Amino acid sequence: MQIRKIAFIGTGIMGARIAGHILDAGYDLTVYNRTKEKAEDLLARGAHWADSPAQAAADADLVFTMVGYPTDVEDVYLSTDGLIRAAKKGAWLVDLTTSSPQLARDIHDAAEVEDKHAFDCPVTGGEQGAVDGTLTLIIGATEEQVAPVLPVLESFSARRFYFDQPGGGQTAKLCNQVSLASCMMGYADALALAQQSGIDAARVLEVMASGTGGSGASKTLAPKSLEGDFKPGFLAEHLRKDIGLALQRSEELDITLPGAETAFTLFDMLCQIGGSRMGTQALTLLYQEEETCRAAGLDWSLLEQEDEGDGCGCGHDHGGDHECCGGHGHEHGDHECHCHH
Ligand code: NAP
Repeated sequence: MQIRKIAFIGTGIMGARIAGHILDAGYDLTVYNRTKEKAEDLLARGAHWADSPAQAAADADLVFTMVGYPTDVEDVYLSTDGLIRAAKKGAWLVDLTTSSPQLARDIHDAAEVEDKHAFDCPVTGGEQGAVDGTLTLIIGATEEQVAPVLPVLESFSARRFYFDQPGGGQTAKLCNQVSLASCMMGYADALALAQQSGIDAARVLEVMASGTGGSGASKTLAPKSLEGDFKPGFLAEHLRKDIGLALQRSEELDITLPGAETAFTLFDMLCQIGGSRMGTQALTLLYQEEETCRAAGLDWSLLEQEDEGDGCGCGHDHGGDHECCGGHGHEHGDHECHCHH
């Protein structure tokens, strides 16, 4: 099938940029996002608006999704008016969200029954990679299977890794995320030690960059931490979700991931005290005086309130429609919480 019409669901930090490259490549693009304002730039550039994922997908040859959490992915694909039913026969369904490997397998299988092609395709490279169109794609399918949509993937990526089976892309992405989380803790520890010792922390970063103590995280995120720039490229609550998913998988495999366990505790704490929508580099605030945290918008008393409460402790209000981190799928009475507790 020649790909002409493309639908894109989820035009947040990453999705809006990726969709922009697809538009630039000349495809006919229809977009849907929960909050329409976040699609306005794309609409001004010629994309069409749809009022639901089903409407967006109705005549699309290829549908991308880049939403937040596994619960969002499940809703968009598997609900009664979800993509599995709504997309046309023979259509391609590509999930770019960092999500659950098992959910990716379920979606692949459900699509196959309906004569559609679905594969998981989480990305790495951050907001800058999305802006530049140089993302790395981590694909849960074979190179041959993906060939019909490759030209579209190439419009926003520089490298593609094939993990050959449904869910394989998500599993590989979670491996990347647990490494990222430990790298972030590594540079946060280093900066705290430097600052408390009264030596130049920026120069310590230079030392790390010139040896093996540095990482991609210390190169790109640590300078932001030092400058007090906590704007999100990658949301803290999304990294908590990813670590939660990795820990869920580690439990299934009956293995221990000590770095991920510690990272989950720290990022969960950051989210509980008001840092959910900050960039992951706000991790270093946990090492700072309370006054510095307050100035940055954090409130440690929220943590105490959570501790005193009789809830599950994941730091979320589970009333109404609100979903939490999307990581662990533990039962909490009749509410299914997804936290790591
Ligand atoms: P984001 O800015 O929160 O974007 C997610 C978008 O999806 C939001 O605009 C949200 O709508 C929309 N959405 C959620 N559920 C929806 C639904 N059911 N129907 C329609 N739209 C829905 O987050 P992001 O940074 O782009 O990240 C997206 C995913 O990519 C996450 O899984 C994240 O872990 C992963 N990721 C992020 C980065 C990064 O550097 N940012 C890098 C690699 C991977 P609203 O506008 O209403 O919230």
